[in-house]
Amino acid sequence: MAVIAYLGVGSNQGDRHAHCAAAIAQIASSGHTGILDQSSWYLTEPWGYHDQDEFINLVLKVETGLAPLELLRFLKDLEEKLGRHKTVPFGPRTIDLDILLYGDCVIQSPELTIPHGRLGERGFVLVPLAEIAPQLVHPVYNKTISRLVAELRDTRRVVKVERENQ
Ligand code: ADP
Ligand code: MG
Repeated sequence: MAVIAYLGVGSNQGDRHAHCAAAIAQIASSGHTGILDQSSWYLTEPWGYHDQDEFINLVLKVETGLAPLELLRFLKDLEEKLGRHKTVPFGPRTIDLDILLYGDCVIQSPELTIPHGRLGERGFVLVPLAEIAPQLVHPVYNKTISRLVAELRDTRRVVKVERENQ
C-alpha cells in the first residue's frame, strides 16, 4: 500500500544544483517512489561546521511503496551513487537524503528516527516543508508545520533561490 512521505534533499559540495536535480530524477524514475510535489529550492546557512559552503535544500512529497527501512536503504544507496562517501557529521556533503515524515508513523530505532529527529528545530527543512505542507501535523509534537515554523528559534538564513538560478 502506498504511503505519503516527505523527504529532505540537501547538498553543499560541488555542483549543488546538479546533485539535487540528479537525486530528484533518480527518485522519480525509481518505479516505487513517485514525486507528488516539491518545494522551492533554498540557499541555507550550514549547521555544525561553519567553515563550509551554504547548502541547497528542498523538500519532496512522495508516494512510496517501500517500507520505512527499505526507503532509508534506497536513499542511502542513492547518496552513495551520487558520490557521497565518508563525511563527518554535519559536515560538507555532495548529497543528503533524509526521511522527514512517513505517513503518521513514529519510529525510533538506532538506524532510523521518524519524524526526523531535528525536524522541529531546523529552519532549512521546516521552511521548505511548510511551503508544500503547512497544515500537516507533526505526529510527535502534535503541531502543524506552519506552527512549528512560527515557533522556530533557528536564526540561520534560509533564502529562496530565484527560479532562473535553478
Ligand atoms: P544528517 O542527515 O543528520 O546530517 P547523515 O545523513 O550522516 O546525518 O545520517 C546519519 C544516519 O542517520 C544515517 O546513516 C541513518 O541511519 C540515520 N537516520 C536516522 N533517522 C533518519 C531519517 N529519518 N532519515 C535519514 N537518515 C536517518
Ligand atoms: Mg542524512
